[in-house]
Amino acid sequence: MKVMKFGGTSVGKPQRMKEVATLILGNDEIIIVVLSALSGTTNALSEISNSLARGDRSAAKEQIDALENQYHNFISDLLSDEKGINKAKAVIAEHFEFLNIILRISFSEALNKDLLAQGELLSTKLFCIYLDEIMVCHVLLPALDFMTIDANDEPQIGTIRVKLSQLLQQYPGNKIFITQGYICRNAKGEVDNLKRGGSDYSASLIAAAVNACICEIWTDIDGMHNNDPRVVSTTRPIDQLSFEEAAELAYFGAKILHPASIWPAQIFNIPVQLLNTLQPAAKGTLVSEKAGSVGVKAVAAKDGITAIRIKSSRMLLAYGFLRKVFEVFEKYRTSIDMITTSEVAVSVTIDNDTHLPEITRELEIYGTVETDVNQTIVSIVGNEISETEDIMHKLFASVAAIPIRMVSYGGSRHNISLLIPRKYKEETLRCLNKGLFGLD
Ligand code: ADP
Ligand code: ASP
Ligand code: MG
Repeated sequence: MKVMKFGGTSVGKPQRMKEVATLILGNDEIIIVVLSALSGTTNALSEISNSLARGDRSAAKEQIDALENQYHNFISDLLSDEKGINKAKAVIAEHFEFLNIILRISFSEALNKDLLAQGELLSTKLFCIYLDEIMVCHVLLPALDFMTIDANDEPQIGTIRVKLSQLLQQYPGNKIFITQGYICRNAKGEVDNLKRGGSDYSASLIAAAVNACICEIWTDIDGMHNNDPRVVSTTRPIDQLSFEEAAELAYFGAKILHPASIWPAQIFNIPVQLLNTLQPAAKGTLVSEKAGSVGVKAVAAKDGITAIRIKSSRMLLAYGFLRKVFEVFEKYRTSIDMITTSEVAVSVTIDNDTHLPEITRELEIYGTVETDVNQTIVSIVGNEISETEDIMHKLFASVAAIPIRMVSYGGSRHNISLLIPRKYKEETLRCLNKGLFGLD
């Protein structure tokens, strides 16, 4: 069995969606096709949600109508058969009626999740109508019937596997299954999601649940590049990455993969291939247990970081100090990304500052607390990077002009992380592209 995930841009235009159909038809094995919402839809839905949260119903209504219009244009280019067009119109009417109902009732977090789920529900249904039109036999598997998260918002592969295999058993002989990425049900049985970009995570969880031979992530670029192509123009694709390297890159900001999307494939040793829908013949990037080569492979950057420094003269030789500090973060379910220590102070970074005021207040019991918001973590990722000749010299020579707030080295064999003020991100990524990869 094989999993093929297509992102928003891969289904965002009618022609692209047709090309996706061609790509899935070229397979011999059973495939589970995971689709994102059409590009721009989840952003549009979250803007509608923001308008509703502000109580601005008229703005929300305008946004809903504009989005509905886009869907009507989309189906008129996607479908040619009268029957299919009518079916698609009914699907659009059903989902936009739901959005218009939300407009009239009091808005809640649960309703917000329902709203955000509409994009993937629409894209999969429209794709299935297109497959009917071109007479491709398929089954639509509702992700809400098998993709679940527990009370800690964590997906449990065992549960997903049981539910998914029960569903698959109902369709013996079928070879093409279509399902939604991103959406799931939470422990209360409500509609929820795997966070923005979560369709990659869905694909990897499904691949792990069915023990797929490969998980293909089809997107709009020919694999993982050595640097962020949105910032640096001279980047190049990487042929091969280990699970650890890909996980570090995803976690530290390489948008091509959802931050958590590697672990499900990794624990079941399922190769992940990153491929380009616009250039299907390009090799892309293979992510597997093998790293392929030694040395630095890529850099990535993660914004929205807050650094917290806790300074205490009492820390001198005080065992138990770090435990107390970490317990504060644990209490507020806030995970720490980077950490550095000195004899009298410890600095940590967090990417979720929802509970920053409470965390700061509690940390002040142990010493003085300083926070710096609007920071960026730049990660240098590779295989056995510490053994790369001259790496520290090259690294620090490249970023000599950047004010570095923290450095983390030695935590893993795959990563060196720097914390810098956000405003230096572009310059840092460009300098590293030149200094570490020789790319101008
Ligand atoms: P999809 O809609 O298919 O999920 P995304 O927009 O989520 O696609 O991810 C693909 C985008 O990720 C690329 O277009 C690229 O701009 C961005 N990106 C950021 N960092 C990297 C990287 N290191 N390698 C490749 N793409 C990257
Ligand atoms: N549609 C969702 C988003 O835009 C999930 C995804 O595309 O992976 O975040
Ligand atoms: Mg994505």
